[in-house]
Amino acid sequence: MAVGEHFDAIVVGTGFGGSLTAMRLAQAGRSVLVLERGQPHPPGSFARTPYEMRTNFWAPERASYGLFDLWAFDSLDVILASGLGGGSLIYANVMIRKDERTFVREDLGDGGYEDWPVTRAELEPHYDRFEALQKPQRFPLDAPAPYASAAKTHAMREAATAMDLPCELPPLAVAFAAEGQAPAPGRAIPGGEQNVHGTPRSTCRLCGECDLGCNYGAKSTLDLTCLSEAWRLGAELRTCCEVRTIAPAERRDGRADGYVVGYRQHLAARAAHPAHLLDHSEQEQRAVSARQVVLAAGALGSSRLLLANRASLPRLSPALGTRMSANGDYLALVRNCRVNGENGDSRWRYLQPSHGPVITSSIHVDEQSSRCARGYYLQDAGAPAFAEWLWHELEVPADLWRARRGIVRALLDRLRGRRDTHRAALAGEMFGDAHDSAAMMPLLAMGRDLPNGRLRLAGERLELDWSEAPSRDYYDCVRESLGELAAALGGELVADPLDRRRRAVTVHPVGGCAMAVDPRHGVVDPWGRVHGHPGLWVADGSVMPGPVGPNPSFTIAALADRFADAMIEDGER
Ligand SMILES: Cc1cc2nc3c(=O)[nH]c(=O)nc-3n(C[C@H](O)[C@H](O)[C@H](O)COP(=O)(O)OP(=O)(O)OC[C@H]3O[C@@H](n4cnc5c(N)ncnc54)[C@H](O)[C@@H]3O)c2cc1C
Ligand code: SF4
Repeated sequence: MAVGEHFDAIVVGTGFGGSLTAMRLAQAGRSVLVLERGQPHPPGSFARTPYEMRTNFWAPERASYGLFDLWAFDSLDVILASGLGGGSLIYANVMIRKDERTFVREDLGDGGYEDWPVTRAELEPHYDRFEALQKPQRFPLDAPAPYASAAKTHAMREAATAMDLPCELPPLAVAFAAEGQAPAPGRAIPGGEQNVHGTPRSTCRLCGECDLGCNYGAKSTLDLTCLSEAWRLGAELRTCCEVRTIAPAERRDGRADGYVVGYRQHLAARAAHPAHLLDHSEQEQRAVSARQVVLAAGALGSSRLLLANRASLPRLSPALGTRMSANGDYLALVRNCRVNGENGDSRWRYLQPSHGPVITSSIHVDEQSSRCARGYYLQDAGAPAFAEWLWHELEVPADLWRARRGIVRALLDRLRGRRDTHRAALAGEMFGDAHDSAAMMPLLAMGRDLPNGRLRLAGERLELDWSEAPSRDYYDCVRESLGELAAALGGELVADPLDRRRRAVTVHPVGGCAMAVDPRHGVVDPWGRVHGHPGLWVADGSVMPGPVGPNPSFTIAALADRFADAMIEDGER
């Protein structure tokens, strides 16, 4: 295949690592090509109906080029995104910095699991820079209704107090208020339309649909922030372009000079998108080159690319694929929440999980307070209103039974020829007390499991050897705290599939191309440079040498920003 174009830098993937890197390199005046396998998803285009969802999965082998990418390994299910903006399109917006006490330095040669070759102090300026760009806001619980009436957020705070644990309203990459204005739902964000899609943005409508993609542009997704800035500065953004091969480029004198990147265009997915977000060529197989190539295809994506290209990149570390962590993710539900009324009577406690963004609060059990000495976070998780309708189905038989007298009376009236034309009371009665959908809430926990997973290729199939067994103490601790949280919320805990199926599910996979000073222990050095292959970099969740602990995207972005400093310096030589 002929190598057509040459760039200073090629960035593969547009999640937190890729988008930030592309922006920084474009700001430094580099010619940048960004390759993203998924499609653009402007606000307003995210699927909401079953009809739309049926093609909203990433399965190119079935000509489906949608947003959700799902994996079912032996003991771990993984949920990812595919699209311009990567995981930011479906994430829950939480931006928490990694606890400084968890940048641990264990001796890997002596059976340790994690050795972080960077410190929190070194990352601090990079966190600050990304924060200034994303302008996160905390859920404005003190503002008048509808914010003040967020029952789930109040309940989390009260439960944390009862458990004697700190609870914060974490910074969220969501606009509740336009700049200089008070929070108000659905207000236009001035200048919001200045993005790669040209789509207007408005403030958060508290609809709980963040994990399906925000149709209002209230989330500061990376296509609307970093990638728009990179594009304004001249970076080329090509979607529907899936990278397959990476090989050193050779000059005529035989010396290595950058890399050739081969990619496949998903031609069938291009039709609906504007030319400035597509490859100008309609060839299916393409090859381009650059002096610097930055892999930012995510923990699974970058590890897989390197595993598949090992023959062309012979000096890759033997540690490739190792140190995979599920970031300690654990999903649960609290159901049947009750509270004692003023007269001592017990009544339902309605948490209304669909009211507000998906996550509004975070309780931290730190390393000192944790019984297993590994810290974790407990967060409320909302869900779209249609999920409440699904949960409501559970109580329909009981509601109908309770409304039986009214129903029978209505039928008898009909048989007797008596007509009561006003049926509103009966209709309301048939909804019962709606406690199955409203006196409940999904809960999310995450933290420091042991990064003992290993990704490998079996032919073309990606496999993950991972087991929760070494992290059992950690999961037991988390389950115990979730039980206490459920009790403090007045409800019962319905635990994660991990308990029933010995399988975990994660939305935060990290590792696979871990950072390490010693190439025997990690794929990249502490500046993201692939050991043994100058000019090749990795900048995404795969470089974590262990779990981040809290939601990882902020730390991924901070590390990518640090790596970008080195890329810029390297490009100047
Ligand atoms: C439902 C959900 C909620 C979440 N909530 C939060 C949260 O509140 N806070 C938080 O910090 N984190 C959250 N996360 C996790 C967060 O989204 C990820 O940690 C983060 O996106 C990882 O960033 P990344 O740069 O490593 O890669 P990704 O964001 O995964 O991006 C990788 C990109 O590379 C593309 N790609 C892959 N392979 C190729 C290829 N061969 N060629 C071209 N492109 C390729 C992918 O399509 C994707 O766009 C959530 C995740 C999910 C699924
Ligand atoms: S709650 Fe709704 S409007 Fe607000 S950020 Fe989430 S999806 Fe967007």
